[in-house]
Amino acid sequence: MAQKEFNPFAMAQQQFDGVAEQMQLDASTRALLREPERELHFTLPVRMDSGEVKVFKGFRVQHSTLRGPAKGGIRFHPEETVDTVKALATWMTWKCAVVDIPLGGGKGGIICDPREMSMGEQERLCRGWVRKVFDIVGPEIDVPAPDVMTNSQHMAWMMDEYNTLARVHKPGFITGKALGVGGSLGRTEATGYGVVFAAAEALKRKGKDITKCTAAIQGAGNVARYTCEKFVQLGGTVVCISCYDHNDKKVYTYRKKEGIDPKIMLSAVDKFGTIDQKVAKEAGWEQLDGGEWIKQDVDVLLPCARENEINAETVQGISSQVSIIAEGANGPTTPEADAVIKTKGIYVVPDFLANAGGVTVSYFEQVQNNMNYYWTKDEVLAKLQQKMVDAFKAVADLADEKGIYMRDAAYWISIGRVSMAAKLRGWV
Ligand code: GLU
Repeated sequence: MAQKEFNPFAMAQQQFDGVAEQMQLDASTRALLREPERELHFTLPVRMDSGEVKVFKGFRVQHSTLRGPAKGGIRFHPEETVDTVKALATWMTWKCAVVDIPLGGGKGGIICDPREMSMGEQERLCRGWVRKVFDIVGPEIDVPAPDVMTNSQHMAWMMDEYNTLARVHKPGFITGKALGVGGSLGRTEATGYGVVFAAAEALKRKGKDITKCTAAIQGAGNVARYTCEKFVQLGGTVVCISCYDHNDKKVYTYRKKEGIDPKIMLSAVDKFGTIDQKVAKEAGWEQLDGGEWIKQDVDVLLPCARENEINAETVQGISSQVSIIAEGANGPTTPEADAVIKTKGIYVVPDFLANAGGVTVSYFEQVQNNMNYYWTKDEVLAKLQQKMVDAFKAVADLADEKGIYMRDAAYWISIGRVSMAAKLRGWV
């Protein structure tokens, strides 16, 4: 749960400033890249099933369009803030750059709780969001996608609304769509699988055999689910997974030392990431306090929930057995926690590298939409794996060469690519 004073955008800027300084980036490029290019705030009236009109608050932030159209998801969350959206938009710029796809960074959000809304209300909310952002989005301008508590159905409604307003058929306006309306095979699994492709490379570098490794996962949303599935497919053991239980309004960690079966996990979890307690009990999973996931004696920690989860306080609980942290979430680790992680000698696969699989397959989805020709799942996943492995190697090699922290090395590569675009285009 986010601490009150935590500001994700201030954290994103702090991370950027640190590496900009190491790279001796010029002042104009720093000024350009530490702020979003554009942000839109709006009210969003939605008629609820009761007949009453509820007014929501929505955002779209475009951090950078230097390397291509802005790209990034839309979050539905009751605790959404514009600073969270700004931070996430900024991280998207670095994410697309680190995997070298021709896209910039953006993010959107609505302060709402879809778990408390009917399907009809969610549909009207999605369509309303598109009507509000219509003037600043489009396949060549800014391309949204799913994120926390948004899914392929939301994307399908949004795609329909955009195409209805624009009088076109351009499914590439948005990615992460349902299959059959321009979605790509492999997109649902992409972020989680990508986390594990990167984590597996990190384990290789550390001379570890994944089949002898254990992991603890935080979260039970889309990223966590497929991270769990792929880690187990590659022969590893996932000993626990945590989730926010929307019914009990509380976080639990579910543990089974012999290993969580991903099939049971996938059947136990609802659309928004709450695990069915009955299924968990039948599967023999112990129910522990939410914060326990980070304290397990495992080889790999996989934070796949939200920002500010590994902070000055929680970092202290990390077991000395942990050798790798691969971040499926965006911004899970604060700079204070990074300082401690460095002293513990844990190898970090930073968020915008580790979780770049989602946007990578979003890019593939757009490419397929533009060609109007669709690849098989195996083709998509093979291309994804190649991108993740190449990006990981480039970052890890730079970190070794310069003797710097993995997060800084990832920033170094991304900032280098984006500032090069700024120079070539004559912006600075
Ligand atoms: N929301 C995802 C992310 O944070 C995916 C973004 C996209 O596919 O555009 O990376």
